[in-house]
Amino acid sequence: MDYDVIIIGAGPGGIFAAYELMQHKKDLKVAVFEAGHALEQRHCPIDGEKVKSCIGCKSCSIMSGFGGAGAFSDGKYNITNDFGGTLYEYIGKKQALDLMRYVDDINMRFGGEGTKLYSTAGTRFKTVCIQNDLHLLDASVRHLGTDINYIVLKNLYSYLKDKVEFHFDTPVETVGVYDAGYSVQCGKQYFTCKKCIISVGRSGSKWMEKVCKELMIPTESTRVDIGVRVELPSEVFSHITDELYESKIVYRTEKYGDRVRTFCMNPKGAVVNENTNGIITVNGHSYEDPAKQTENTNFALLVAKHFSEPFKDSNGYGESIARLSNMLGGGVIVQRFGDLIRGQRSTPKRIEEAFITPTLNATPGDLSLVLPKRILDGIIEMIYALDKVAPGTANDDTLLYGVEVKFYNMEVEVNEKLESRYPGLYIIGDGSGITHSLSHASASGVYVARNIADK
Ligand SMILES: Cc1cc2nc3c(=O)[nH]c(=O)nc-3n(C[C@H](O)[C@H](O)[C@H](O)COP(=O)(O)OP(=O)(O)OC[C@H]3O[C@@H](n4cnc5c(N)ncnc54)[C@H](O)[C@@H]3O)c2cc1C
Repeated sequence: MDYDVIIIGAGPGGIFAAYELMQHKKDLKVAVFEAGHALEQRHCPIDGEKVKSCIGCKSCSIMSGFGGAGAFSDGKYNITNDFGGTLYEYIGKKQALDLMRYVDDINMRFGGEGTKLYSTAGTRFKTVCIQNDLHLLDASVRHLGTDINYIVLKNLYSYLKDKVEFHFDTPVETVGVYDAGYSVQCGKQYFTCKKCIISVGRSGSKWMEKVCKELMIPTESTRVDIGVRVELPSEVFSHITDELYESKIVYRTEKYGDRVRTFCMNPKGAVVNENTNGIITVNGHSYEDPAKQTENTNFALLVAKHFSEPFKDSNGYGESIARLSNMLGGGVIVQRFGDLIRGQRSTPKRIEEAFITPTLNATPGDLSLVLPKRILDGIIEMIYALDKVAPGTANDDTLLYGVEVKFYNMEVEVNEKLESRYPGLYIIGDGSGITHSLSHASASGVYVARNIADK
């Protein structure tokens, strides 16, 4: 065997698996294979001047490389079982929370100390929400911010690089199963190991699907969340974001009974492009450093879509909608809320005349030509509901960027140890479909590492 353990993917799941293995068994020979670049080589070419929109790099530096999709994220570690994944269904609620707290401790030791931990416990805003038919989910949120998150990753890499072998720019093509363990193929080379942890995140979803087909590991894909990213002056939400930073608010629409929720709130942040398998969607982030903050707050409004038999390709549905916006807008479309309500497209002139400056250079257009009516109706209802707790949300100039799609990786069948039908082949993090967040993905890495170390 070349290695005791091979980890595929150096996102939070893979990093924390490597870290925890080294805490328990320093002499284990561990290798991490990562499709993207090393941290310091990760640069998105979009500079807002020469390169204004996504040029479809071979390896997207936003999604891939050391730190995974989380490297340039807002670094919000939500310590909760209420959202961010269903890890607790496999390992129990208490253990899941304990592991998320453990990850938080490590982040603090590796450069995050001094960052703020927000909490919904005892907030008056919860009552205000209920009085207006909105529901605030419980959570503690550690906000590292994009800048500190980067420092934590840099320190984690410095700590791990002499203990674990990192292979960057080395996508794994296939995984083979043998009596004694596993082999991974990278180009013409094969590497063998006793145990293999697959942690390929969202960017590895297509690859994961292929591997599961080849190895006959059962999967299920029934959910996708579709919506827009809302951008408004930070004052509109400051009474909420100053206290809670991130608030997950859920609303059930009157018309269809669909659940619409706020997601990934970035006070004084910026809206950014996201490239998933060549499709440009929208996301957001913000910095802890006041010098890098903007005058706007952004968050997503997502409508959850669950499909039942015979339809099985929920992500394909989300992709088709995102493709439509790419077709019409050449990328992401932006529209003023007032224009949407009046049934008119936004034009560059209308955007320019608005009392808010967009933080993303998107194409002014008409989201009603892109989003299905049911989803658009839900978003509009939710904006009016939010306007009651944050007056100004339903202003004409509120910007809506579309589309934001939250793809859920298909759920891979694993047992309570996050082990597939092959003993010693673990599937964790967002790639497993079980987690959808930094804290849950990291916790799943710690969990399987402890399991392997115990054996
Ligand atoms: C812009 C943005 C902002 C976000 N903000 C937040 C936030 O504030 N809070 C939060 O909780 N979540 C956030 N998220 C989500 C969060 O980043 C993910 O939930 C988290 O990174 C999942 O970790 P992971 O290790 O499972 O996968 P990932 O972080 O996606 O890492 C997987 C890694 O595997 C690599 N890989 C894929 N296929 C292969 C292969 N075949 N061979 C080798 N390597 C491969 C990829 O290159 C990638 O680096 C954000 C995401 C984005 C894109």
